Amino acid sequence: MNRHIDILEAVKAQGLRLTPQRMIILSAIADGEGHMNVDEVYERAKQAYPYMDIATVYRTLHLFKRLGLVTEVGMGDRLHYELTDPNARHHHMACQVCSEAFAFSPSYLDEFRRRLVNEFDFEPDLDHFTITGVCSGCRETRP
Ligand SMILES: [Zn+2]
Ligand SMILES: [Zn+2]
Repeated sequence: MNRHIDILEAVKAQGLRLTPQRMIILSAIADGEGHMNVDEVYERAKQAYPYMDIATVYRTLHLFKRLGLVTEVGMGDRLHYELTDPNARHHHMACQVCSEAFAFSPSYLDEFRRRLVNEFDFEPDLDHFTITGVCSGCRETRP
């Protein structure tokens, strides 16, 4: 997976040691299905390395986030993580019922951003902007 290689190179470029645990956590996120919470990353990493501990997962996720390799997504009351892909920037809608995340294009927020800048002279950081609500599947099954 090329993206994976890019990230490994980026980690090295930062002068960080690529410890086996960091590589396992990176693979866990890269091989996962999009947005994963810490427990999901931990469970997957533990399959590759049974001695993995949750504190290492937290520490490593924070490190990757600081380096911009991983994006943190607030969904409901949990943080989720995904690989940062500059070519596939997106925002999230998170379902409050099933916790499923849905991606939408940043273009939806262009007008919103422009108005905040024009009317309030405020430059919003919308990278962590998540819209919560109820997805179509959950609305159908609701009484
Ligand atoms: Zn739902
Ligand atoms: Zn996402």
